[in-house]
Amino acid sequence: MNGYFRKEFLDKRYYGEIIKRTDGIILTKNYKEGERVIIEKLIFKDKNGEKLDITRFLPEGWKFVKNKEFSANRENKEIKLGNLKEVGALFTIFHEIGHAISYENNIEDPKKILEEYTHNLENRQLTKEDIIKRGEKIEDYEEILVYDPYGKSVGFDRDEPFFTMLVPKKVIKNYGEALAKLERNAWAYALNQIRNLRNKGIIIENELPTLEKLVNFIYSCLLTYEEDFKKRYKDPTPYFTKGKKFEKIEELFKNWAGEESNL
Ligand SMILES: [Zn+2]
Repeated sequence: MNGYFRKEFLDKRYYGEIIKRTDGIILTKNYKEGERVIIEKLIFKDKNGEKLDITRFLPEGWKFVKNKEFSANRENKEIKLGNLKEVGALFTIFHEIGHAISYENNIEDPKKILEEYTHNLENRQLTKEDIIKRGEKIEDYEEILVYDPYGKSVGFDRDEPFFTMLVPKKVIKNYGEALAKLERNAWAYALNQIRNLRNKGIIIENELPTLEKLVNFIYSCLLTYEEDFKKRYKDPTPYFTKGKKFEKIEELFKNWAGEESNL
């Protein structure tokens, strides 16, 4: 161990946490990196004492970071972890790992579909008059709020990161479909992991004991994304939930590695 690494090792100052859940306990090994808390190890121990190292499900180079909410950050290769006591928290961790795996498999970021359009100066300056002049229909466009904190640095004349612009409904539709697919795939991964673990006798999420309860949980999450999408893009299409609640469950399983369900 050379001097530099020894110093880094000492600077890490590990500490542990024990989080009590209804299905068992979570043990973590953490260290601080500036303001951030990195969770280097995340171990779940169920009621029967079965241990599961959840860290090993992370793709190469990814890490867990403490946060208020759960999310997967593609750029930093970070999975942010919210409240680990909540019912569904472990299920959600697997969902976020599902995202991380998709990203590592180079799935195109749905945001790019929208950004490809919004990151174009000509598109940004498009007015209703221009649309009419081009012989297109106003109804085929929607005025939406766009967030672009880097706009100024790439030469767009905007001081505010938020602004409204007219975007073709077709672009919004493609974005909604891609985003919903990404979310559903990540849930399919999580569902398969829970099923595999239960088959091995490791019970996670005992308050979601049946497939129906797990699917209801997924459904409520998808509904949240959907409400957010509807509000933001003024598009009422149910991209995320699509039709009846349980209609898509078999499809959910098939989306991930084509496995069949036997939960
Ligand atoms: Zn997600």
